[in-house]
Amino acid sequence: MNRIYLDHAASTPMLPAAIDAMRPWVELECGNPSSLHENGRRAKAAMDEAREVLADSLGCLFAEVLFTSSGTEAANLAILGSALANLEGGRRRILMSAVEHHCVLHTEPILRKLGFKVDLIPVDREGAVDLNALDDLLGDDVLLLSLMHANNEMGVWQPISEAFSMARGHGVLIHCDSVQSYLSKDLSEVEADLITLSAHKVNGPKGAGAIHIRAGIKLQPIQVGGGQEREMRAGTEDVAAIAGFGAAVRAHRKDPSLMGGKRALRDAFLDALNGSDAALTIADRHRILEGHAHLRFPGFDAETLLIALDQAGISASSGSACSSGSLEPSHVLSACGYSPAEAKEGLRFTFGWPLTPEVAKEAAHRLLDVVARIEATRASRR
Ligand code: PLP
Repeated sequence: MNRIYLDHAASTPMLPAAIDAMRPWVELECGNPSSLHENGRRAKAAMDEAREVLADSLGCLFAEVLFTSSGTEAANLAILGSALANLEGGRRRILMSAVEHHCVLHTEPILRKLGFKVDLIPVDREGAVDLNALDDLLGDDVLLLSLMHANNEMGVWQPISEAFSMARGHGVLIHCDSVQSYLSKDLSEVEADLITLSAHKVNGPKGAGAIHIRAGIKLQPIQVGGGQEREMRAGTEDVAAIAGFGAAVRAHRKDPSLMGGKRALRDAFLDALNGSDAALTIADRHRILEGHAHLRFPGFDAETLLIALDQAGISASSGSACSSGSLEPSHVLSACGYSPAEAKEGLRFTFGWPLTPEVAKEAAHRLLDVVARIEATRASRR
């Protein structure tokens, strides 16, 4: 049976262009980009090429893009680096939405030890931040707002334009976790001071992330040692992964259908589920990421379905990759007001290159078969 991978929000297959760009740095080249000799200069040139591609995609300056090892590290640097650089000021509160990725939410205990108070912004039933609540929470004692562009679990787009302009009015620093939205939306329009990205979500390799730090914004590094990445992120860079990241971004920009094709895949899947008991958590497809389908079969916990789907050759997820395998109810669905039992029912199917609409449709049929089989087994036990 052919396996169908529908977990593109967790990680994506690498584009051939990304593999080709990495190959010399794995097979042949050994230069350290900090070395002054020719091997080192070649490594630095490969990184600079990738930095140029990312800066161009973000509509920012070359020097405003720094590489990290992951989206997680980039978000940690954005949040903890902002806090550490502002220990002396009077701004002691940090706001983040209740549905942020754990790489944002789990900075809270460290921020608390540093003397900051974290306030979570509540969300509506579809996971979008409540702008009235944000308005109430904002004040001149707030240092930073961390609000993701699109949620990795339900896929909902956050109202970032409104939220960020409200925050600006109070002189608040703004971090936007754009790991899920990168290359789906034009980030040059995102009015944030700090934007964080990850290579493996855009058909690049694992092991590379990036942070855009707007010129003039001061962060304190959270990793110290050598002077790499403008002394903001010590440690010898993974040149192969960074070269692969740049090549993947370049390939997407050259061929927008690689990203643009996601909608047709997702729609083929959802259309094939029409008339079934699948309950979409967000009915309006324009409110969610193009390649995202998030749903529940009420009464069926996600873990049972995911195991049965795996046996039926479908790789899907219940939410963020970092928490898959855990029995905990989803923090995202809980924040949306779902009961603990319902918050264990969320299923995430995410689509992308090189799937076809026919395969997406077949996946939907296999899902319906799995649900029908489990239902029949339950009925026979009653
Ligand atoms: N932010 C979001 C919204 C994510 O979905 C993820 C990964 O799932 C991350 C951050 C972390 O990125 P990485 O896997 O590169 O650490």
